[in-house]
Amino acid sequence: MEDCLFCKIIKGEIPSNKVFEDEFTFAFRDINPAAPTHILVIPKTHISGLNDLNNENINIMTKLTSTAREICDTEGIESEGYRWVINSGEDGGQTVFHLHLHILGGRNLKWPPG
Ligand code: AMP
Ligand code: ZN
Repeated sequence: MEDCLFCKIIKGEIPSNKVFEDEFTFAFRDINPAAPTHILVIPKTHISGLNDLNNENINIMTKLTSTAREICDTEGIESEGYRWVINSGEDGGQTVFHLHLHILGGRNLKWPPG
């Protein structure tokens, strides 16, 4: 999508600190990290968020989680623990409307979140 920040990051039009890329997914470090490890995993196709998932595109969740699993391994946060988050809509705190899974780790994360 033309005016989407994360679509521009995928295309390289906006620089990012890339961690991983394959045919379906792209991962990069969050510009404003909330934890020592804070990585965003996104689909290469534009899906605006959880509400946009349907039977046609739901398989992307397998690709996102598969990439996220691999990254948790390579980042070395598996044994200590970590958290995956997908914010949705205003109450969920979503600010970028291109589906993204946050990987947070490297510190003791509090629960429940604010
Ligand atoms: P959310 O609030 O769940 O929509 O998450 C959006 C995330 O994108 C926030 O954690 C931002 O810090 C992050 N973010 C925004 N712009 C950029 C960027 N140019 N590069 C990397 N991360 C970004
Ligand atoms: Zn997009």
